[in-house]
Amino acid sequence: MIFIEYSLSHTTPIYIHKVGAWMNSLNIRAVNRKKVLNYLYENRDATKQIISKSLNLSLPTVSFILRDLADLGLVTQTGTLKSSGGRKPVAITLNYNAKYSAGIAVTQNCIRLAVINLGEEIIKYKNINVCFENTDAYFAKLAESLDRFLRRCKIDQEQLLGVGIALPGLVTTDKRILEYSPTLQIHRLPIQTIAHYIPYPVLADNEANLAGLAEIWHINDVKSAVFLSINKGVGGAVVIHNKIFSGANGHAGEFGHMTIVKDGLTCSCGKKGCLEAYCSTNILTDSHFSDLENFFSALVLGNRYCIEKWNRYLDFLAVGINNIHTIFDCDLIIGGEISKHLPHYTDVLNQKLCSLNSFGEQPNYLHYSKYYDAASAVGAALLFINRFLGTESAPDFPKNKQ
Ligand SMILES: [Zn+2]
Repeated sequence: MIFIEYSLSHTTPIYIHKVGAWMNSLNIRAVNRKKVLNYLYENRDATKQIISKSLNLSLPTVSFILRDLADLGLVTQTGTLKSSGGRKPVAITLNYNAKYSAGIAVTQNCIRLAVINLGEEIIKYKNINVCFENTDAYFAKLAESLDRFLRRCKIDQEQLLGVGIALPGLVTTDKRILEYSPTLQIHRLPIQTIAHYIPYPVLADNEANLAGLAEIWHINDVKSAVFLSINKGVGGAVVIHNKIFSGANGHAGEFGHMTIVKDGLTCSCGKKGCLEAYCSTNILTDSHFSDLENFFSALVLGNRYCIEKWNRYLDFLAVGINNIHTIFDCDLIIGGEISKHLPHYTDVLNQKLCSLNSFGEQPNYLHYSKYYDAASAVGAALLFINRFLGTESAPDFPKNKQ
């Protein structure tokens, strides 16, 4: 809140308590405004009477907030609802296209770009083949690609909340440094090195965390869930109330390095028996198949080697899923490359899961990716939508309205 800090520095001490009270009233107003936004996000076509009752806010407060949001173009009247007598109440809805957010996923071989609106609808998605380089020229090119992409989306600068960046590696808990990325082969890259070229607010996080955020966000009535990402590497994310839980060291959701076999196969991390050593997609492709498509084509044709390999793979995957579900007892979404193929084998996977579950649960907690390759870019864009509609930070309203 730079505006408030600036005001304080020009205020004599005698007025500080008044400024404090003024800040409190501003905060309450901002919190109430965010509550109304959130309510409208989750409930289409609400009336101010319903909002007032549901949020326990007075009718004049709700009317004031709705007028303010309408001035900003964030809400619109969509007609009238049925009346139980008297004037028909006016239906109000959130204008999902009032604000947008962009997401960039940096990978070893390409840049993925996505723009979404407040309703998490993808406005545009693009995959550009550019190999990563830890050079200023690469970061400048990244920003140029984003700029061209945004111009094609025809979005005004004022409508863009910010740009989220998904990175394949460990991001420090303060989200300022990409600590280590084996895929990009870099250590300690300050996020500012990338943000420097981007003329919008920037937030960054680990790509599996962001893919998880995107996948979980779109499931109705689910705000807390875990995400298991299966590619060559196996990772994941823990999302609690639409917010990524990173853990004390940023390792939360690193399900790939959960030991499932004591003294088992060697993992990419150097330890033995990790889930990744048994469920990486490399296990399926090995030296016989160039990619997953080839493996699954052979499996469908009844190749014996593939059938045995796939059955053993699902045994270990079921152990991993069951362990994760036993710890978290919540919905679990499987994403990554495997999620294109796995839904065809849910019966056999579910049988294995049932046989492992100690509580007689059916695996109806299991979901599959909606976004596939786009998940981390969409999740990166969601960082700003989440901040705008969520509760963890101050709303990003124009300064002249605060
Ligand atoms: Zn490992």
